[in-house]
Amino acid sequence: LSHGLEQLRDLPCETLDGHRVPLWVNTGLYADIARSLDRGAEGVGLYRTEVPFMIQDRFPSEKEQQAIYREQLQAFHPQPVTMRTLDIGGDKELSYFPIKEDNPFLGWRGIRVTLDHPEIFLVQIRAMLKASEGLDNLRIMLPMISSVYEVEEALHLIHRAHGEVQDEGFQVPMPPVGVMIEVPAAVYQARELVQMVDFLSVGTNDLTQYLLAVDRNNPRVADLYHSFHPAVLQALRLIADACREAGKPMSVCGEMAGDPAAAVLLVALGCDVLSMSATNLPRVKWLLRQIRFDDARALLQQALREDNAYLVQSMLHLSLRNMG
Ligand code: PEP
Ligand code: MG
Repeated sequence: LSHGLEQLRDLPCETLDGHRVPLWVNTGLYADIARSLDRGAEGVGLYRTEVPFMIQDRFPSEKEQQAIYREQLQAFHPQPVTMRTLDIGGDKELSYFPIKEDNPFLGWRGIRVTLDHPEIFLVQIRAMLKASEGLDNLRIMLPMISSVYEVEEALHLIHRAHGEVQDEGFQVPMPPVGVMIEVPAAVYQARELVQMVDFLSVGTNDLTQYLLAVDRNNPRVADLYHSFHPAVLQALRLIADACREAGKPMSVCGEMAGDPAAAVLLVALGCDVLSMSATNLPRVKWLLRQIRFDDARALLQQALREDNAYLVQSMLHLSLRNMG
């Protein structure tokens, strides 16, 4: 099988009837680069910038960040690299910036922290923009958005940072900017949010956690955590509708995209890009190359009729097995 997976690397990810679905990767560590290229990634859908922050003992300087981001952009060039702005809080802690709260997942996380500390945000955006000079494959993505106001603020800061690096003599275009949909409030404002940016990307890890009120890391409730829950599927459908109506791309960068059976549903929903850990990429590509887009659509319709996650899962596995 591993030999077969190697041959798979250079084949396009498309269904039997020619529906193309670019498979991108989630990265964070330097080692993810080689692994991703080796598996035929067509871009980076989520570069978790907090990872390089977590392995240091102080905030990396603008110059240090610039060098780290340049590595990612260069390695994947000319393919796009989607850099998420710092997403700390929740379960991701920096030793030199402790956040102590009773409910960290409902607390000071992601964009909430960086909008309260625009100096951290601006340094990071400037470093990203400078790193992209001459490469122009940068995309910027905002985590934990729960209101239109946060996007306005963040865009304002990104434009300001862009002006500053231009004043310093860097020639960089404004990169595409996207919003992560990972909080239920954002699902219901997807129509407004998508108007403000260039793309939406669904973080199904947090979206599942918040929709189902199930801590994504708590083993005691792990069997309640399910991305096939009908509420999650309906949320995905609302997001897909908003993107289609606005004519803007939708991607999924949560773990769900790396589950082959779930990927079939996401493709049927109209996702334009699936982003996953490099390990899962070959399996997802293999399965998507075995199915017809029409059949995926039919499976989605069936999945949306089921009233619980286990039925969705068993229906999918049975149907996919019958298709070969
Ligand atoms: C997500 O929440 O689905 C996601 C991709 O982000 P993270 O796992 O880093 O929170
Ligand atoms: Mg998340």
